[in-house]
Amino acid sequence: MKQKIRNNFAVIVILLALFFTFLAGCGISVHVPTEKDSQTASSELKVHFIDVGQADSILIMNGSQSMLIDAGNNDDEKLVVDYLKEQGISKLDYVIGTHPHEDHIGGLDAVIDNFAIGQVYLPNVPHTTKTFFDVVEAIRKKDLKITLPMPGTTFNLGEGACTILAPNSDSYEDLNNYSIVIKVEYGDTVFLFTGDAEKESETEMLKKGYDLTADVLKIGHHGSSFSTTEDFLNKVNPQYAVIMCGKGNSYGHPHRETMNRLKNKGIKVYRTDESGTIVCSSDGKNISFNVEPGSYLKERE
Ligand SMILES: [Zn+2]
Repeated sequence: MKQKIRNNFAVIVILLALFFTFLAGCGISVHVPTEKDSQTASSELKVHFIDVGQADSILIMNGSQSMLIDAGNNDDEKLVVDYLKEQGISKLDYVIGTHPHEDHIGGLDAVIDNFAIGQVYLPNVPHTTKTFFDVVEAIRKKDLKITLPMPGTTFNLGEGACTILAPNSDSYEDLNNYSIVIKVEYGDTVFLFTGDAEKESETEMLKKGYDLTADVLKIGHHGSSFSTTEDFLNKVNPQYAVIMCGKGNSYGHPHRETMNRLKNKGIKVYRTDESGTIVCSSDGKNISFNVEPGSYLKERE
């Protein structure tokens, strides 16, 4: 009798394995719940806005999965790698290089070298710098593929759902507008990460009619006045804004116009130049920050 039960069990396991192999063959990704998942199913989504000065690097974690959006300047390599290790990261399921400027992809080669990597997203635009070459070389060395961002495509990050919203054109004059824009939904809460996207890309996203509404907006292009247009801000309608910029940066980021737009709408701002690394948590209903809101002052005031 015992033997029979064991045999039945073996048959079921084999059938399940065949079924999942079939699904995987159809290109359908299969997620088999594990004990670890059930332990973390009610866990929070954590968004770490890592202080890399005048640059971007954002780590998003939920359950056993993680995504890194940008990796700071070349000089931030060690800082970013160490920070990820401190968070217990050994694998990044998604790595996004929003666009090929150094302050976004500078540390990406070291990140790719130091961690197991799932998918790498880069926009379809080459750059002639050594920084860009280093990233492509790191990808090649690990035999990874570059996934191009197709607006409207979605993927899961733990219990979170990610949607790519930009870039929406094949070519732009300004490299910033190639920025990959990603919306992350977790329960009832929504985050929008815009890289250095400027007015042109914001206008395209509005025209496409995407649902841009978000609770937390990572302000585009370090608070530059060429991003975060009134129309875009009205549509996103965030409660919170996060600005990633360096203290005393030579661009004068964040610009006064941007800060005024945020202030006039009563949007709480969090700034890496004032608070250092900012960690934001969502339980699916409520959002909290590890620091107090920052000021509406422009740089050098
Ligand atoms: Zn930038």
